[in-house]
Amino acid sequence: MSKLCELADGVHLLPGSTNLGVVDLAGGRALAIDSGLDESAARKLLRALQESGRRLTVILSTHSHADHIGGNAFLVQRTGCRVAAPAVEASLLRAPAWEPLYLFGGAYPPAPARSKFLMAAAGPVDLVLEPGPVEFEGRSLELVPLPGHSPGQLGVLVGNVLFAADAYFDPPVLEKHGLPYFAAVQESLATLDRLESLTAGLVIPSHGRPVDDPRPSLDANRRALRQGLNHALELLAGAGEGIPTETVVASLLHRLGIRCRDLGHYLLCRAAVLAYLTHLVDTGVAAVGVGDDNVPRWEVCGR
Ligand SMILES: [Zn+2]
Repeated sequence: MSKLCELADGVHLLPGSTNLGVVDLAGGRALAIDSGLDESAARKLLRALQESGRRLTVILSTHSHADHIGGNAFLVQRTGCRVAAPAVEASLLRAPAWEPLYLFGGAYPPAPARSKFLMAAAGPVDLVLEPGPVEFEGRSLELVPLPGHSPGQLGVLVGNVLFAADAYFDPPVLEKHGLPYFAAVQESLATLDRLESLTAGLVIPSHGRPVDDPRPSLDANRRALRQGLNHALELLAGAGEGIPTETVVASLLHRLGIRCRDLGHYLLCRAAVLAYLTHLVDTGVAAVGVGDDNVPRWEVCGR
């Protein structure tokens, strides 16, 4: 049986592979923070709400990744709830094929890259969110900008409880995955700094354990990002000439001991490595060009 854990007055957690938040609104109504991977996760949330006498009226989606929005369509259909999502992410909730499509370089990908882990069921967005204060049926929340993992990701601060989405990963989760998915390195580092400066009493990452003090976790995420950047730089610096993209990806995954399960997993890892390469080029450390053989190659500058 799925039970809600009370974190603070009227603020609850439904722990799971994707942690879900529940915020009480007036009159037994409730706002959910994310809906989980799929219908099964959504059913657990719905059961926990019903068993505790709550009625779901709003889902607040922190960002558009499938493991956060996969239950939206089912919950909307079952409860008629509204969906609120960050402006930059909203179009992906409405047309979730964008996620596998952008990971596959802009082409519609083959079936193995369209699993539920990368492509949720399409659902509506009724309210487009911006960072800052927002009110839902008499309850005030603060939406905290947490870009980097996803461009428009928002955290939710309720009183002194912060739902931090995927702005950082709990260290055991980091260790398990080997390569955290951060789409933009600079923004992700700035977001980790912003989280450090927030004075929340309790911080809940979407994957892992709530903590009173997120600083050790934030440090672990900084280290993982810097380690990835260092690996990428060492690979480029150690080569006698420019390295093709796929070789950088394969070599870096080899260094980290990662064996991709399938095409979808590979595309996620590849995107994380490309973010390192982007950072190295945009900070003037590396350059990229396309050879006469039509192969893009990456090398350190000033060779
Ligand atoms: Zn995510």
